[in-house]
Amino acid sequence: MASKSLSTAELTQIKIALHKLARNIWWTWNQHAQELFAELSPRSWQNLYHNPVAVLHEVSTYELGVRLLEPEFAARAKQVLADFDAYMSQSDTWIRREMPELAGKTIAYFSAEFGLHETLPIAAGGLGVLAGDHAKSASDLGLNFVGISLFYREGYFQQAINRDNWQTEYYSVLDPKSLPIEPVLDPSGEPLVCSLRVGAGSIYFQAWRINVGRCVIYLLDTNRQENEPAIRDLTLRVYGGDANTRISQEMLLGIGGVRLLRALGKQPNVFHMNEGHAAFLTLELMREKLADGISLDQSIEQTRRECIFTTHTPVPAGHDRFPSDLVQYAAGTFIGKLKLTLPQFMAFGRVNPEDLSEPFCMTVLALKCSRAANGVSELHGQVSREMWQSMYPGKKVSEVPIGHVTNGIHLAGWMKGSVRRFWLDRLAIGNGGKHDRHEYELINQSEFWNQILSADTVSDEEIWALRYRLRRELIEFVRRRISTSEHRPNGGFIEYDTLLDSDALTIGFARRFATYKRAPLIFDQLENIHKLVQDSQRTVQFIFAGKAHPRDDEGKKFIQKIVHLSKYSDLKGRLVFVENYDIHVARQMVAGCDIWLNNPRRPLEASGTSGMKITAHGGLNCSILDGWWREGYDGTNGFSIGDDSHPENIEEQDRRDSANLFKVLSEEIIPAFYNRDADGIPHEWIGRIRRSMATLAPQYNTWRMVQEYCRKYYQAE
Ligand SMILES: *Cc1c(COP(=O)(O)O)cnc(C)c1O
Repeated sequence: MASKSLSTAELTQIKIALHKLARNIWWTWNQHAQELFAELSPRSWQNLYHNPVAVLHEVSTYELGVRLLEPEFAARAKQVLADFDAYMSQSDTWIRREMPELAGKTIAYFSAEFGLHETLPIAAGGLGVLAGDHAKSASDLGLNFVGISLFYREGYFQQAINRDNWQTEYYSVLDPKSLPIEPVLDPSGEPLVCSLRVGAGSIYFQAWRINVGRCVIYLLDTNRQENEPAIRDLTLRVYGGDANTRISQEMLLGIGGVRLLRALGKQPNVFHMNEGHAAFLTLELMREKLADGISLDQSIEQTRRECIFTTHTPVPAGHDRFPSDLVQYAAGTFIGKLKLTLPQFMAFGRVNPEDLSEPFCMTVLALKCSRAANGVSELHGQVSREMWQSMYPGKKVSEVPIGHVTNGIHLAGWMKGSVRRFWLDRLAIGNGGKHDRHEYELINQSEFWNQILSADTVSDEEIWALRYRLRRELIEFVRRRISTSEHRPNGGFIEYDTLLDSDALTIGFARRFATYKRAPLIFDQLENIHKLVQDSQRTVQFIFAGKAHPRDDEGKKFIQKIVHLSKYSDLKGRLVFVENYDIHVARQMVAGCDIWLNNPRRPLEASGTSGMKITAHGGLNCSILDGWWREGYDGTNGFSIGDDSHPENIEEQDRRDSANLFKVLSEEIIPAFYNRDADGIPHEWIGRIRRSMATLAPQYNTWRMVQEYCRKYYQAE
């Protein structure tokens, strides 16, 4: 025994390395690392929301040392640390292999939100999750990527449903010391502080660093003593406050972000704006050039060459616009530094600079000051070209310089660990039982997923057993959530262990409750849905989750309607609303649902990503042909609601879509799911699962998406 135990020096080294590992969220896509931390303190892991830093606070240094005396545990810890080291020092990255010209270039990526893990709740929805997945894949690919965002110390709100079935919001304060982030320090070991002028005074800010594998994201934070209380709270909440807060947050993000990068000695080659919120960065780049004595025209031209812009919003009202008096107030000093008059400055944010009543639009600024711009799906690219055509007089819609890169997800991060192992065990055999590529790379490849088309690699029975396990895990998760919820959405009169049926076709819907996503659309056919649910031979059930923006009463009414139906209609026990949707809830739902429902009002879902997360778990999409699904659906790999068209009239569209939704559900989905052979296996259904995985998983991931950004946009023009 003694020979197997670790020397004191080794022990110390492992302890330090584990602390370091906890502060690199590489563990969010490494199952073995998560299991290690979870095993140290299973209750803390659960209660502290899967946060290794908090777990290591909970477990004393002495206990950690003692636990490592267990040879098997120590061996696993050493293996995880060795894997982490190998990842961090990998030299044959995709970038070095395929695009060596980018290897020495730095990409700065600005986003008002990053959704990386449930323990860092600083994202409001899909835009942030996309940014987080972009960062993780940038790391996997070996891209030199730095992210810039804000540190919202109350994050996005937590949701509770009150007695009136109405969403209420509450906030908890994040403690940086127990999060997987680190303070950014100056050479003397003090927090690095930068500043900018907003309104009448200076704003001082510090920064926190998130290590994302080989990449870094910096979060700007105004919670500093030097600032007045109102300014300290500028970074309190995601998209919090009024227009004044909003423009101030955006100045901090864009201008402050560039200043932080400079203070860190960074000279990025590309500045990528994820949505218009960060577009002030272009003006800060211009200001720098002017200060160096470069002419205004030259400064604009050089800035454009550095910047690229991704737009996400096909709704005209969804773009930030600020009136000129607010711009004058908030950015007056800055405008002076640019040696511009207010109308000259406003012109950067106006489609028509002559129109002095036009507000300052962040998207217009971003488009004017970028060398390239893109939407996030083919259809959204088209819609964006139409929407912004007026900015390019004389150009036809097809000539408007907005392209598209369809969104993706970081597969390794979204796949449940057990599922990833399941597929690697079966599909990694293609290469004579070995594979020379890293797992995180392999699972994005067509060659890998194509093997699923053959029953030799994995049988229908095994796939069906996997689906049953995942559905069971989801149902038990939901029962646990509901029985421990303070607010008991079902009023205590549901028997938790009979809530939902582990044999039933399980349909999921979870995302922001923005009204265009039409969460309750399916209940427009309430009578029909009642009948489906009551069919004891072929029953269906529904799990919903999602947050409405605190000021969106229409979205809250949607939640109210669904919660009400779950309590008081014949759908009771077959319809559940899970409170407080976040990345953790999302991960359970995309693993366990058989059908992922997506019924936005076309063409308002620029891309959508949640449906991509279910493919690797063997769920199937049922969606309007909008965003990514219009490209992904091929007739065999899921289901479509309606066809590749939509009426202009909204009421007509709602009517048509809800009828089509019921039609595909009752005529295609339910029959296929319940069409079983003598052994109870639905072969046709599983055939669709195979098609879905083979065609969608290797395409709709950020490994492909970031490569596309590299080839189309990050490479110098
Ligand atoms: C994936 C994801 C989204 C995006 O969902 P859409 O269907 O694209 O709107 C939103 N929120 C969370 C927490 C997610 O994980």
